[in-house]
Amino acid sequence: MNEQEYKKMIQRCVRCSICKWIPQLQIKSQKYATICPSIDMFNFHSYSAGGRIIIALALEMGRLEPSQELADIVYKCTECGGCAVSCKFLNTLEPLEIIVKLREKLVSLGYGPMPKQQQYIESIKRYNNPYNEPHEERLEWLPNDVQIDQNAKLLYFVGCTSSYRRKEMAIAAVRIMKAAGIAFNILQDDEFCCGSPILRTGDVNTFEKILNKNLDIIESKGIKTVIFSCAGCYDTFKVDYPLYRKYDFRVLHTVELFDELIESGSLELTKEVPLTVTYHDPCHLGRNAERYEEWDGDIVPLMPFVSINIPPKPKRTGAKGIYNAPRNILKKIRGLNFIEMERIKEYAYCCGAGAGVKSAFPEMALNTAKTRIAEAEDSGANILVSSCPFCSTNLQDGIKDRNSNLQYYDISELILMALGLKNEKSKQATAGVR
Ligand code: SF4
Ligand code: SF4
Repeated sequence: MNEQEYKKMIQRCVRCSICKWIPQLQIKSQKYATICPSIDMFNFHSYSAGGRIIIALALEMGRLEPSQELADIVYKCTECGGCAVSCKFLNTLEPLEIIVKLREKLVSLGYGPMPKQQQYIESIKRYNNPYNEPHEERLEWLPNDVQIDQNAKLLYFVGCTSSYRRKEMAIAAVRIMKAAGIAFNILQDDEFCCGSPILRTGDVNTFEKILNKNLDIIESKGIKTVIFSCAGCYDTFKVDYPLYRKYDFRVLHTVELFDELIESGSLELTKEVPLTVTYHDPCHLGRNAERYEEWDGDIVPLMPFVSINIPPKPKRTGAKGIYNAPRNILKKIRGLNFIEMERIKEYAYCCGAGAGVKSAFPEMALNTAKTRIAEAEDSGANILVSSCPFCSTNLQDGIKDRNSNLQYYDISELILMALGLKNEKSKQATAGVR
């Protein structure tokens, strides 16, 4: 969103508060009718998308001075994008883009990122990962019996969290590709953080340097397809990178690849997995993974505070997120009983970890996770499954803190079970980065 669009759009919020709720027709119960973890936690209008847009407008008009207190409110948002989906039902605003831009402005004014977020940004600059881990140990998780093909045109971009904290996901991903007989490469010493934690906290200049470094390396190897088991890396490459620099390789999340492999018969799920499972849609694989459509039009004022887009701008409603692939996989696992939660797909409730909240505001991240865990319990499932390492960490923290009987698995771990393969668990201490 450029400066002109930002200034026009922040005037167009009609203060309806629809962004606090999932769209009315999608509501199944009062208990699970809300969409915004921030307003759910703090229950004051400033903590909603609409409230943050008023802050943005007041700052532009000079009626509010930037302050640390104000930055604190703006950063207590997981950038889950639920507000952006809900707003489209009556309005045509992009609240999520406004919040991202507002953070960028606060950074330029010296009021962001939050101190804890600044620490992981320094770690990324120094060690290429946000966890202060040695870069040379990035590939230590790779099992000895799995071979990398350095000439392969399919690249597995492992990501920092799967490399250092959720190794079971990386191990499962390569074991599944091995079982399917696919040749793939991994960048090894040349894989760096995708930049998502930096972008989402508003340090756009550093983000741009990182994305250029990653794209230069991938393009120099002639890669045709990049796959990701991390929803955050996937969304950043798929949706955010092209806003800064276009590329011409294909990007896929592992659930999309595995769904294709199962469909084509390259993976045969022969073993029974007799579990009752529900699925959490990660925000970065779901609604936020919908690409921006290019639009070349004018914003025409009709009256004070009211303007329209001519021609109409395509609405980014989140409906084009990746929802079918994980559900197809779960439905093809023999003996598995799959049941849905109330808030699913583009109306799914956030796990609570995103956009630097896990590191800067751990209590908010944990409370949000526990809300989601309660919803998973109410579905009747005893297994919670998802497809993102950040969701994995935060939801497991929620399960533990709530003393829930739920067990958590990444979807790739269920595929391993269905293939009859060894499932190596390497649950490490949780770390709050995202
Ligand atoms: S952001 Fe959209 S949904 Fe929220 S108050 Fe403004 S117009 Fe209404
Ligand atoms: S992005 Fe999510 S947490 Fe932030 S205001 Fe929107 S719904 Fe609330």
